[in-house]
Amino acid sequence: MKRDSIVIVGAGANFSAISASDENALRWDKLGYAHLLDLAAKDGRNAFVKETSSVEYWDDMPSAAKIESMAGYLKDFKKIPTQELPTGVAFGINFTTVTINAPLHIQYLLKKLTEEYGVRVIRGKVPAISSAFLGLDTKVVFNCTGNAAKHLEGVKDSKCFPTRGQILLSHAPHVQQNTMRHGKDYETYVIPRPYSNGKVILGGFMQKGVSTADTFGEETESILNRTKEMIPTLDSPDTEILTAFSGLRPSREGGARVSREEISLKGTGRQGTIVHNYGAGGTGFQAGYGMAVEAVNTVTQELQGLIHSSNL
Ligand SMILES: Cc1cc2nc3c(=O)[nH]c(=O)nc-3n(C[C@H](O)[C@H](O)[C@H](O)COP(=O)(O)OP(=O)(O)OC[C@H]3O[C@@H](n4cnc5c(N)ncnc54)[C@H](O)[C@@H]3O)c2cc1C
Repeated sequence: MKRDSIVIVGAGANFSAISASDENALRWDKLGYAHLLDLAAKDGRNAFVKETSSVEYWDDMPSAAKIESMAGYLKDFKKIPTQELPTGVAFGINFTTVTINAPLHIQYLLKKLTEEYGVRVIRGKVPAISSAFLGLDTKVVFNCTGNAAKHLEGVKDSKCFPTRGQILLSHAPHVQQNTMRHGKDYETYVIPRPYSNGKVILGGFMQKGVSTADTFGEETESILNRTKEMIPTLDSPDTEILTAFSGLRPSREGGARVSREEISLKGTGRQGTIVHNYGAGGTGFQAGYGMAVEAVNTVTQELQGLIHSSNL
């Protein structure tokens, strides 16, 4: 399997409170949630996105800002009474989330771009970010290179680091609810994969700075133990473990970078505009839409110019 496809196959994916509590993360989450909920309602089956009931538990109290933000927009948000929480859990909520069949959702987006919007896709590896300015008519380059932003010539962002995760793909059609437990040094989750004939993602790990794409038997055991303890119905002959995956979340100290930069293009005497949009960590599906909208908003004038000239 190609390295870059591993991040996506391994992604659950869902909308969860896994993200940070800073202003950017809260805003991108909110935009992403509204977008995915709307997509689930209008075109969920084609987009492989579905409303799903969800429970989230924290072993340590989340910040007041995080709770206030979630309570403000999550559909059916309800705090779970303390006496109903499992042992060791400090805080818990019920709400309606969105689950995403990550590999098929990506294909849906690609099809939409190419067939509905006429986007031409060119696959290739650029040796430097400036190489993405393919010709004189390339005005704006969006840099969405994920983990590669750490080493890519012209970017070399030392704040970037991978956060490894291992998951199990299972067949467990009896599991219909999304469940997460944010532990002190672990992350346990069960995500029913929508429109997949009963596949369920069992996770996981959040290993900062670990960059191996290997999978490990002891991690598989740990995932099985933790998820079965959290959802006892998983411990049944109806649950079949299909395979293990690992992936590297493209993380960044201080959160994702969504910003515009002007560079001089060597040997041409020209300036180029780069819009950076990388470092989504474990939230590229849930927060990616919000990040993308803000990235595009940094070059509104340039894009209007392009639309105008293509209409001439
Ligand atoms: C185990 C696991 C579980 C996850 N679960 C969830 C979840 O439940 N919800 C959620 O929201 N997110 C989840 N994620 C995170 C999500 O998968 C990422 O945030 C998302 O994939 C990041 O997308 P991206 O496009 O920014 O980066 P990437 O997916 O890493 O894509 C970067 C792209 O840039 C390309 N590239 C890099 N360098 C170059 C170059 N020099 N030239 C050309 N192309 C280049 C790469 O080939 C790649 O295609 C999970 C991730 C993992 C690993």
